[in-house]
Amino acid sequence: MKILVTGSAGFIGSHFVCYALENGHNIINIDKLTYAGNLENLENYKNHPNHSFYQEDICNRSAVENIVFKHAPEVIIHMAAESHVDRSIDCADEFIRTNINGTHALLDASLKYYKQLDNKHNFRFIHLSTDEVFGALGPTGQFDETMPYKPNSPYAASKASSDLLVRSYNKTYNFPAIIVNSSNNYGSKQHPEKLIPLTILNALELKNLPIYGDGKQIRDWLFVEDHVNALFAIISHGKIGESYCIGSDNEISNLDLVRRICEILDKLRPANKPYSELITFVKDRPGHDFRYATNASKLKEHTGWFPRVTFDEGLQKTVEWYLSNEKLRANSNARNRIGLIHEN
Ligand code: NAD
Repeated sequence: MKILVTGSAGFIGSHFVCYALENGHNIINIDKLTYAGNLENLENYKNHPNHSFYQEDICNRSAVENIVFKHAPEVIIHMAAESHVDRSIDCADEFIRTNINGTHALLDASLKYYKQLDNKHNFRFIHLSTDEVFGALGPTGQFDETMPYKPNSPYAASKASSDLLVRSYNKTYNFPAIIVNSSNNYGSKQHPEKLIPLTILNALELKNLPIYGDGKQIRDWLFVEDHVNALFAIISHGKIGESYCIGSDNEISNLDLVRRICEILDKLRPANKPYSELITFVKDRPGHDFRYATNASKLKEHTGWFPRVTFDEGLQKTVEWYLSNEKLRANSNARNRIGLIHEN
């Protein structure tokens, strides 16, 4: 399959691209390479014969249109975004620009391309979004596709807006789009500003492990490789015009998650005291959502997908990956930008 991916040098995008190339697909890759994009994430695949990379901004409609028409993809999968909640609280400008205007530009370029296709049945547009568009849950219940949108952060609001644009193109133009609302992902190659890599990397330098508020906020963690499998299941079996929630029932509080990482590190790289002694509670983030939990029943029913990696296995693999990546450990700038953390 010929697949055009936006945001392919980021965390999820790079996992998607590597998996796709390993499985014989053709990849056309658009990434602006913001602070969050890193071509090293695609290191072994840079010169792959089935891989074309364009350093481009999705807001540049004519450039994107040229790439789309030149390569004539069967699937466009849209992952490019500003993705860090804390940054959106600092300043939402880039979130509005990329997540809303950029999605709009990409949709217009893709629609123009779609309209002139002879074989329209073969084309799909997959839009990656987040469960954060649904807001926050109390102690019980799960997000599903029927929930109203109630985004609480500028990041979530910008993603919600992009979802609504994608939905409107499907309803108005019969544009074959599918929206994917995923829970928090974890795994290798995630930017060091996010909770799991930040905890591992700070611990290795014996720095404080900052936790917002009392650390009782709960997130539902999805191993990034399970997410990539779900995206391929959606490409093959997802129904046009639908949205799919993805999660893998791995609910854990931020505090317990950080403690689990400390326990793994105590075994793999013992220090002279338990890493958990580095845990430090810091002022809570404004509007911090209490709990996310995502029900993937519809996705399972429509596509047969199920998560394959348990949280214990996935977390162990993730910690081991960061331990073996000295280069990343050297780059402490990014994670110190705000001095704090967020789990997504
Ligand atoms: P990321 O921040 O790691 O990567 C984003 C990528 O997009 C980077 O490579 C960046 O260079 C690129 N990019 C940003 N602005 C761009 C622009 N204007 N033009 C072209 N490229 C641009 O993000 P991620 O964690 O891989 O997330 C990918 C997608 O999945 C995003 O849409 C995000 O909202 C969504 N999502 C992520 C998670 C998660 O836990 N990581 C959960 C749910 C949904």
